Amino acid sequence: MSALTELYEEIANCQRCDLFQARKRTVPGEGPEGAEIVFIGEAPGFHEDQQGRPFVGSAGQFLEELLEGIGLKREDVYICNVIKCRPPGNRDPLPEEIESCKPYLDRQINLISPRMIVTLGRFSMERYFPGAKISHVHGQPRKIGGIIYYPMYHPAAALHQPKWRQVIKEDMQKIPQLLAEADKIADTEPPQDAEQLSLF
Ligand code: URA
Repeated sequence: MSALTELYEEIANCQRCDLFQARKRTVPGEGPEGAEIVFIGEAPGFHEDQQGRPFVGSAGQFLEELLEGIGLKREDVYICNVIKCRPPGNRDPLPEEIESCKPYLDRQINLISPRMIVTLGRFSMERYFPGAKISHVHGQPRKIGGIIYYPMYHPAAALHQPKWRQVIKEDMQKIPQLLAEADKIADTEPPQDAEQLSLF
């Protein structure tokens, strides 16, 4: 059994926060263990909870369309969420839920060791760049410790507000070139304080 599969089993039995009570299934994430790109969303919704798979609802359809636009299929990338269980009624994840799930996400990233992490929406952006504003940082890569972090708006934003569709598409279109020219992006230190954050 691979380390990632072992992690999925651990997540399946997780009771670290109250979300285990209402979930149908855990949604650990899916994709190849050697994926170059990891996409991190927010939390499972209704369909994800039913199927135990990330991004299988309408936001997922748009994500697949975006991937297709850069010549990728969902099977080519790793897709997961900040939290692995559905919050009741699709409410925002609570800080303590995000904190409880953090070790799972960290282990996933360590095991996959991607070249690029794409954060979808403000919850996954906040995980890596606390205090940053998505309207300021979307579409701007930062390389930290050899990994490119690339914040994007959540695909669901385009479903609620069609004007975001083009912005999200344009940010996605930059990904192939960023990967091709990754060596040229200067490595920066992880933000430690508010002053450094404002550079981001
Ligand atoms: N939205 C997310 O953030 N994640 C999913 O898996 C589905 C919708």
